Amino acid sequence: MRTAYRTCPFCEAACGLELTVDGDRVTGARGDREHVFSHGFICPKGAMFGQLTHDPDRLRQPLVDGREASWDEAFDAVRAGLRPVLERYGPHALAIYLGNPNTHTMSGGLYISPLLRALGSRNVYSASTVDQMPKHVSCGYLFGNPLIIPVPDVDRTDFMLILGANPWESNGSLATAADFPGRLKALQARGGRFVVVDPRRTVTASHADEHLFIRPGTDAFLLFGIVHTLFGEDLVDLGDIAGQVSGVSSVRDLAADFAPELVADACGVPADRIRGLARELAAAPAAAVYGRIGTCTVEFGTITSWLVDVVNILTGNLDRPGGVMFPLAPHLTDEAKRGRGFRTGRWHSRVRHLPEVKGELPVATLADEIETPGEEQVRALITIAGNPVLSTPNSGRLDRAVAGLDFMVSVDPYLNETTRHADVVLPPTDAARKGHYDFSFLALAVRNFAAYSPPVLPPEESVPDECDILARLTLMISGQPDTDAAPLHDLLLQQALQKVPAELHDRVTGDHPAERLLDVALRSGAYGDRFGADPDGLNLRKLIDNPHGIDLGPLRPRIPSVLRTPSGTVELVVPPLVLETARLRAALTRRHDDLVLVGRRHLRSNNSWMHNVPALIKGRDRCTLQVSPADADRLSLTDGEPAQVTSRAGTVTVRVEITDRVMPGVVSLPHGWGHDAPGTRLSVAATAPGVNSNILTDELVIDPLSGNSVLNGIPVELKPA
Ligand code: SF4
Repeated sequence: MRTAYRTCPFCEAACGLELTVDGDRVTGARGDREHVFSHGFICPKGAMFGQLTHDPDRLRQPLVDGREASWDEAFDAVRAGLRPVLERYGPHALAIYLGNPNTHTMSGGLYISPLLRALGSRNVYSASTVDQMPKHVSCGYLFGNPLIIPVPDVDRTDFMLILGANPWESNGSLATAADFPGRLKALQARGGRFVVVDPRRTVTASHADEHLFIRPGTDAFLLFGIVHTLFGEDLVDLGDIAGQVSGVSSVRDLAADFAPELVADACGVPADRIRGLARELAAAPAAAVYGRIGTCTVEFGTITSWLVDVVNILTGNLDRPGGVMFPLAPHLTDEAKRGRGFRTGRWHSRVRHLPEVKGELPVATLADEIETPGEEQVRALITIAGNPVLSTPNSGRLDRAVAGLDFMVSVDPYLNETTRHADVVLPPTDAARKGHYDFSFLALAVRNFAAYSPPVLPPEESVPDECDILARLTLMISGQPDTDAAPLHDLLLQQALQKVPAELHDRVTGDHPAERLLDVALRSGAYGDRFGADPDGLNLRKLIDNPHGIDLGPLRPRIPSVLRTPSGTVELVVPPLVLETARLRAALTRRHDDLVLVGRRHLRSNNSWMHNVPALIKGRDRCTLQVSPADADRLSLTDGEPAQVTSRAGTVTVRVEITDRVMPGVVSLPHGWGHDAPGTRLSVAATAPGVNSNILTDELVIDPLSGNSVLNGIPVELKPA
């Protein structure tokens, strides 16, 4: 028996885990009390680290046409399936879908980009367009880089306005904040307040100082009402960054038509409360507006995400302690550089002519690209750690489309609703056998820190590392010999060392290719040891020697060095946002008498892939349709009885839960369920399959600036089943 420490890889919170290891099994997991960031916090998912690692349904060997095969056989089958498609139809006939867990692995952080470059396909899709793409686009416009995202400085703020987010259950997103609930309680304990705006009285809302119901998808009206008030009542004060912001008067002009009294009906928040929020944000010593899934996965997702930061900027809360700030991750540098700005639409999708955003196309159009004949029709698909058949809109249609592909390969540990269609499944090693560093989430942390976790268990002889799998696929797609991943590992290290003097190259340490790449990034990064020149600086060895992480202090102001806009300022208004504001203005007069569907999150769920652990699905059925008492009465629905829900895309039957936690006019169904498809190997999930909410979501409706799917605010009809 021994103890090992590692970062939890399951969500964005990046908690430290203390694992009990018995031989080659992880037998227990609890919070690491000495961890510099999470201080012992853990949620039920992290506590299941061992159960997920040793899940009997996890694939241990590749599958070729559904039967277990050797790794050589599997790679031969992938080569035999992919190469003819590439040679006959070209790179765009091969699409790739990247699931959310890629942002939680080192292989995802280091080996996906080379794979995409080798692929050269326009058909790149990911979970980003059913999640946070609007935030990338709005930050790209404002700051010149879609990956530069300010996070709420929750530990120092006095007032927080939370829109469409439920961090009590999700533990935060686009804001890495282990123990988000504890941080919100601390905010209240030091005399601060937080207000939640949400169509559901979530767990977070029930702990808030105030909860305001809002009609789904209308947060942009509320936020424009706040902006209008800030200008109208002379409350705009940009603070220390005033000289580095351009376009303030254009924002005032855009907000002119959104007086609180004009938007109140559309969003359902009283005008005096909208004005009150504007005054509170302006008056607080430090305040932060934080918007998440409910502000992104809606028709006006980009403009809503933009307005979140516009309010932060106009109230002087961008880049100041207690406001919203830019983290500085250890693998990144903080050099000032004039940027070229951000643009979308470098190419368009073939069928619906939707613009590329951040190198990818909206996953809402993947089925179009597979089903529609013609040049560059998608004929083969790679999925990596993804389950788009459950997690993308009109998934019934995508399920049928994927079944008709010429060839499909999935890198995935599970035979799930998507990978059951794959000709070849390549299962990577489990999390306990790979090192962990959060390339994505240390750049979103509410306090700067560094942590690296070496593998807890030794590698399995017969199972290639995930970096090796992706490297071999990259070589294969490039038409190079692919039986050995080493040439790509060597090439990536050479590229990483390009700016490092040759005499320092032998100082790079690490037992694994990913560790060596990380060591180079850490040593060259903002806190790095410059390959020995700064003995106090960071390197891989130092992180290994500090298994509870290294605290790098509170967030610090980073404007202007963080900006990459052409002007070197925060550019508040760009032409696409002006056009989108006109569309939003027109939507003010829409009728709002539809019943609309929203999703919801549960502490023991993480999208679609944590339902195969008994402890995470036990208890009462969580996949219910929440309906308000008023709607249940009007539609003759009975608590506990099934109801039929129909949208443009499909129909499901689901058990009704009558509750006043949803506002009238809104029904709520969680996502990630629907584990009753034949041909999967999810024996626990199949015992409580639930209903797939994405049968109802509509692939034809997207946020036009980001291509993000609309997963909240879906018009539905409802009747007793
Ligand atoms: S909150 Fe997230 S990171 Fe922390 S233990 Fe739970 S799943 Fe893991």
